[in-house]
Amino acid sequence: MVDEQLRGRGIRDVRVLRAMLEIPREEFVLQELRHQTYGDEPLRIGYGQTISQPYITARMVELLELGGDERLLDVGTGSGYHAALLGALAGEVISIERIPELAAIAMDNLRRTGLDRNITVVCGDGSLGVPDHAPFDAISVAAAAPRIPHALLAQLADPGILVIPAGTRMDQELRVVRKREGRVEERGVSPCRFVPLVGSEGFKDNE
Ligand code: SAH
Repeated sequence: MVDEQLRGRGIRDVRVLRAMLEIPREEFVLQELRHQTYGDEPLRIGYGQTISQPYITARMVELLELGGDERLLDVGTGSGYHAALLGALAGEVISIERIPELAAIAMDNLRRTGLDRNITVVCGDGSLGVPDHAPFDAISVAAAAPRIPHALLAQLADPGILVIPAGTRMDQELRVVRKREGRVEERGVSPCRFVPLVGSEGFKDNE
């Protein structure tokens, strides 16, 4: 996986590559899909949600340019895999999931693998961020938003980086929003497709 799907497609950050080697992805995947753990595709994790393909996860993490001691917000905990990677690369991770059953599964996965040391999973609407723990040096959103949620931008530190898929329900672009010296710059990186972010600043039923 690391050689073909990641290094071969341009993931260069050695810390990210090492973390992808070290975190046991199979522990975050449904039992019956374990044989597909290291395949080049997203996998269902239950409750209508999916864990992204390894390449997309690595790319998103690399774009955050983590040095090791950041305080980070992860929106859309799902299985907890992405949070586990972030935990290995940053100082502290707050991860928020709206589906209580998934939040519980993620906590269990993180505890079982011993990767929960610096990760707190909370249940709630992550489109509003987690104001009690703000500001965040970096924010990673693993569900597609119709637009950049204001709350997340407000809770991003300066300097800070937010990585989020944004667009329509059907197709989106991975976007990097950088706050620096009071200014906000935004750029698109690549097309992508994620499950929708729902909630206050997510997709509405008619969107
Ligand atoms: N990062 C996960 C996969 C994320 S799938 C992993 O590594 O497994 C996207 C997740 O975002 C889903 O679990 C979905 O329930 C969650 N989600 C969608 N809208 C949300 C919101 N407003 N707040 C928190 N979580 C949300």
